[in-house]
Amino acid sequence: MTDQTATDRLRIAIIGSGPSGFYAADFLLKSEVSPTVHMFERLPTPYGLVRYGVAPDHAKIRNVINVYAKTAAHADFHFYGNVNIGYDITLEELRQHFDAIILAYGSSTDRHLNIPGEDLPRSYTATEFCAWYNGHPDYRDHNFDFSHETAVVIGQGNVAMDVTRILATPAEKLAATDMAVHAVEALKASKIKNIHCIGRRGPVQAAFTPKEIAELGAIEDCDVIVNPADLEIDEVSRAFLESGDRPSAKRNFDVLTEFAQREPTGASRRIYVRFFQSPVSINGEGMVESVTLVTNELTGEPGAERAVPTEQTETLPCGLFFRSVGYKGVPLPGAPFDEKRAIVPNEKGRVSPGLYTVGWIKNGPAGLIGTNKKDSEETVAQLLEDASSLAGAPHRENDHLNGLLADRGIRVVSYEDWLKIDTAEVERGKAAGKPRGNFTTVDEMLAVLD
Ligand SMILES: Cc1cc2nc3c(=O)[nH]c(=O)nc-3n(C[C@H](O)[C@H](O)[C@H](O)COP(=O)(O)OP(=O)(O)OC[C@H]3O[C@@H](n4cnc5c(N)ncnc54)[C@H](O)[C@@H]3O)c2cc1C
Repeated sequence: MTDQTATDRLRIAIIGSGPSGFYAADFLLKSEVSPTVHMFERLPTPYGLVRYGVAPDHAKIRNVINVYAKTAAHADFHFYGNVNIGYDITLEELRQHFDAIILAYGSSTDRHLNIPGEDLPRSYTATEFCAWYNGHPDYRDHNFDFSHETAVVIGQGNVAMDVTRILATPAEKLAATDMAVHAVEALKASKIKNIHCIGRRGPVQAAFTPKEIAELGAIEDCDVIVNPADLEIDEVSRAFLESGDRPSAKRNFDVLTEFAQREPTGASRRIYVRFFQSPVSINGEGMVESVTLVTNELTGEPGAERAVPTEQTETLPCGLFFRSVGYKGVPLPGAPFDEKRAIVPNEKGRVSPGLYTVGWIKNGPAGLIGTNKKDSEETVAQLLEDASSLAGAPHRENDHLNGLLADRGIRVVSYEDWLKIDTAEVERGKAAGKPRGNFTTVDEMLAVLD
């Protein structure tokens, strides 16, 4: 701690309370400049995708919030939940109150396939499905129709694995997790029996991690089926696999090989993990009835193979379609944005002196929670390099900002407020035999406080 008074010290705002924002806050609070850190979050609840992305049956992964809670307990950390930056207060107004701003607002939408039929009823996105089953207030009222026996999931990253696994898992199992009650109830009525999880490239190129693909093979009352022909890989893929450049590719391949050797047991549900196919159209009269897939061949160097469509197509009957081909960042009003890459343009996290970025909106939507730690460290290093020259914001008292938000009728949720919501959710959960019973509307959350 330096001998500066509270108002002299650097005042830094972080927009977004996901992993990247919390890691940045932690590095700042431990730095020699001892700034005050003010984190803004548009929802009353902190932790971003740790709460609203990570699958409910992966409870241990969510334990990372205990690390963030320690950061939040720091005397110089201030949380402003329920404040939507760019809407409730502009970025320019924020600049009047803070010497530096870090954009940590993540990637909230998803990529399109740009094929006919993508907007048909019962064609869904992984983004909305994952947010819905985790009780995100924006998705509370979405409806998913699970009345058909066959679902297709396009994509083979870990999010696609989550979608596939949740669709295949008996709802009674999910009821014991912190999955939102509305989702458990809808999934209890699910008629889904077949889930086709389809990737455009081969088993060596798939983006899932060994743990996530292996989990598909451990789902109760579910067979996982891999066509041995899909594992007959070309020389380029074989060379990459054996090079050891990506050890997880070899482990994935071993898991898939074991799946391919399994005999179906006649379980109630079946997951088909399929490769070398891309959707070219989603078909149906008024709703999804089938998807047309084209078979691909691989071309390119080891580790950089691309899928090239052949003439061969197949039409697969299905009643639900999920695309899981990547998240996508959106612009924040007043901040620079690279439309092509859908990120905030930056150099090692520096957008311009005084404006910085971290996490998915800095790099694009890839990487695990832990990946954000090193990345936030890089950005904080840039900010600290600039520290001595950061312009002094004119309004240095928290009261000025609080007054502005109060005048606009914004009910700011402090970290202490969040802890009350947290306690109430845990209590609700106990009553229902769940680890916690998340509120799924902002009104319910605020009702705990007022
Ligand atoms: C479905 C899914 C499952 C995942 N599962 C795992 C997993 O099991 N294990 C793992 O390691 N990683 C997992 N990840 C990856 C991990 O969640 C990300 O690496 C991480 O959350 C990215 O952190 P972030 O801070 O950049 O963004 P986010 O976590 O998205 O946080 C951004 C925050 O900014 C807030 N925000 C947005 N706009 C504004 C605004 N205008 N004003 C104020 N606040 C705003 C958002 O509400 C959000 O809270 C998963 C990702 C997804 C999508």
